[in-house]
Amino acid sequence: MIQLIWWMWFSMYKNLDYLFDGLKKSKFRSSFHLNKKMKEYVKENGISLIEKHAYNFVNERLKPAYPRNDGKQTPMRQVHPVFIAQHATGTCCRRCLYKWHKIPMYRELTEDDVSYIVSVIMKYIVEECAV
Ligand SMILES: [Zn+2]
Repeated sequence: MIQLIWWMWFSMYKNLDYLFDGLKKSKFRSSFHLNKKMKEYVKENGISLIEKHAYNFVNERLKPAYPRNDGKQTPMRQVHPVFIAQHATGTCCRRCLYKWHKIPMYRELTEDDVSYIVSVIMKYIVEECAV
């Protein structure tokens, strides 16, 4: 509950609603949704564990200035809700992070970048699971 309030505050502060409006207008981004199994996975494991996974994935797969397999590091299959959220929110690779979030390529992500990206991912997951 506290986390939910925090996200609401955060999304107003960072104006994430504007970003999410844009994502909804993109045919490609808005085609991604969590399936039933992924939603159940979120409910069974709890939001804070999913958030921990999101931190791990972002740190491992996106943080380096030159991530391994950049552009292909995020599976499109429903193997983890965070991956689907990344495609839906344009946080799947460094090129998309630049295009959608104006985070420069070819430099390591800062702690602030990482927490911002995780917040975007988690906002998507919370909203998907709420409907
Ligand atoms: Zn991408």
